[in-house]
Amino acid sequence: QAKRYSRNTFHFFTEEMQVHLQRKLKIVNAMRHALLRNEMQVHYQPQISAVKGHIIGAEALLRWRHPELGDISPGEFIPIAESSGQIVAIGEWVLRTAIDQMKVWQNEGLAPMVVAVNLSALQFKQANLIGMIISMLNKAQLAHQYLELELTEAITMDDPQQAINIMNQLHAKGIRMSIDDFGTGYSSLSYLKQFKVYKLKIDQSFICNLARDSDDRAMVHAIIDMAKNLGMQTIAEGVETAEQLEFLRLHGCNEIQGYYFSKAIPADEFSRFAKQGPHH
Ligand code: C2E
Ligand code: MG
Ligand code: MG
Ligand code: MG
Repeated sequence: QAKRYSRNTFHFFTEEMQVHLQRKLKIVNAMRHALLRNEMQVHYQPQISAVKGHIIGAEALLRWRHPELGDISPGEFIPIAESSGQIVAIGEWVLRTAIDQMKVWQNEGLAPMVVAVNLSALQFKQANLIGMIISMLNKAQLAHQYLELELTEAITMDDPQQAINIMNQLHAKGIRMSIDDFGTGYSSLSYLKQFKVYKLKIDQSFICNLARDSDDRAMVHAIIDMAKNLGMQTIAEGVETAEQLEFLRLHGCNEIQGYYFSKAIPADEFSRFAKQGPHH
């Protein structure tokens, strides 16, 4: 069949593309059984108050270990799950797991904190999203204020009017929202002020070169000031060094997330971490 195309066209389909496509198909198929076979886990990365140093929350981050393929990073499988639609079922499981976990920690006596769950575009536009979340919270007997949904700029800017509508409904139910990877997308500032967003997550690409790049310092400074003026909180992602932490603290960033304190860790480890408190 392929031979019927001209030789030049055929040559564009390289061996490399073939290998890439085969892996993608493997992942799509393997993902069908991943939850049933207990291959997926939710890990939690602490979010820490820049001023007081205590844990304010945890971001739920999905992990997948396949028996043959090994660890597959979310950077690889989440986009595939989004294009195949599997993210809806998987994302629902992450939400339920994170909500139930937060209740377990409250019962264990951990200080109250918020769990932040990444939401993909398909989930955000699900007709029953809010009903589903409310019923999960009720079932776990977790107060709505302990859940935060992380949305990307792409999700909110795809159809801003619809996004405002959904965000208003979530806000009315007392569920917090944040904008993830802020600064890398193309948020319109005129819409941003209409979004019922609690917090901006400054993307890690602005943080990693803070020490060397004065443009990045200017950007981070500007984002923090803008958020303040809009009545929003800020959290910096990907904080790895004491210098970065110091800069952020000095400029009034509210929260810190990054390897400097901890990577994402399994629930039992997180609970020990939270009881000891961060060591820096
Ligand atoms: P994200 O939501 O922006 O998550 C932050 C990513 O940065 C995580 O990568 C985290 O492990 C990593 N990170 C945190 N601190 C540091 C640091 O100090 N240095 C460096 N270099 N990296 C740091 P991860 O876990 O590989 O996740 C990648 C992306 O996959 C996430 O980016 C998110 O977009 C997506 N993702 C993960 N779990 C889920 C999920 O349950 N649902 C959806 N829809 N997306 C998810
Ligand atoms: Mg996130
Ligand atoms: Mg992010
Ligand atoms: Mg990211």
